[in-house]
Amino acid sequence: MKRFEYTTFESWKTKANLNPPEDLQTFTKRNSPFSLSEAAYLIFTSTKFSNDEILAAAKDRVHGIRKNKLLTFSPLFTTNHCDSNCLMCGMRKSNTMMERKFAGRSAIIDQLNILRKVEKTRGVGFVTGEYEGSFSRNTNAFWIGWGIKEALDLGFNLIFCNIGSLDAGEIATLTEWFTPKDKVNLSVFQETYNLEDYERFMGKDYPKSNFMKRLHTFDEWIDAGQKHVNPGILLGLSDPKEDLVLLMNHVDHLKKRGAHIYISAPRLRPALQTSHRSLVSDTDYIRILATIAFLVPDCPLVLTTREPREMQQQALPLVGIVSPGSPDVAPYKKNAKPPNRLESSQFLVADLARPSEILKWVTQQKFKVQNWG
Ligand code: SF4
Repeated sequence: MKRFEYTTFESWKTKANLNPPEDLQTFTKRNSPFSLSEAAYLIFTSTKFSNDEILAAAKDRVHGIRKNKLLTFSPLFTTNHCDSNCLMCGMRKSNTMMERKFAGRSAIIDQLNILRKVEKTRGVGFVTGEYEGSFSRNTNAFWIGWGIKEALDLGFNLIFCNIGSLDAGEIATLTEWFTPKDKVNLSVFQETYNLEDYERFMGKDYPKSNFMKRLHTFDEWIDAGQKHVNPGILLGLSDPKEDLVLLMNHVDHLKKRGAHIYISAPRLRPALQTSHRSLVSDTDYIRILATIAFLVPDCPLVLTTREPREMQQQALPLVGIVSPGSPDVAPYKKNAKPPNRLESSQFLVADLARPSEILKWVTQQKFKVQNWG
């Protein structure tokens, strides 16, 4: 199967069918004349469809598939070292104010035990920076592969791995530790599909600067026999309309490749020594989530505690995963909420509470969290 063919928004637009239909349901018909990306553009931009209408239709479609059931995983940053230099990120290489940390074997095992036995979650997402040079990249893949195996042995049943773009050799190093049956999800957020904005934020000469390698990592992952992928955009880096459209283009390709897909669309958050703030309003944000949920309810959205509780409450009926936790290094404690220090975290979350507290609140909103408790 061919790799994903990148197209710019401008060139996509010249070929797209952009005449909005009379009603939303046209987009979901078996013989709909619209591709996923065309439908996303029309739903997000057309004044024919109100936010309330899109939200209600999306909730219906999601409920039809998942009822009131959700899954969960908590992020586990195993280090805040990074060789990349993304402008929006506290972990970037040039940030001399960051207190660098590294979690070794016993720290990672402790963290997994706290998540499993104290927070009672069976979902974890390993996160690192992205590194320079084959040795460092393979060592990182080996280290996180080992962590994933430990998590599987402890009974975790929803595992994400967010360690940057990977080539076939790095994927082989990582996946030696588990099998496709373990359904490990690879998270590689393109962040923005706009090449110029990508270069503006991710720079030119860093490991994460390679836009095309990042874009094709899922194809390498699927070629290696894995199936579970988690594409995403970081809203606030570029025009959200364009990123939504090109994300859906990518999702379309991954669906055709038979992938099992979770989608992330977080908004930018404050981070150490950064001046970037998300310009995506709450109204636009909910409209973007609802558009995705309506069009691909079989590709559950991931909601994190980057968002404040009120926004989480609005988004809950649209998502399939709630991801509470802290982007500080090995942050989970037996008897306290995790820290989220500006000096050692990738960014600051809006809702810092123990994962179990957030998940308890989720159940009070009448949702069942299937891999918690
Ligand atoms: S976004 Fe990721 S790759 Fe970029 S500087 Fe931060 S941790 Fe490193």
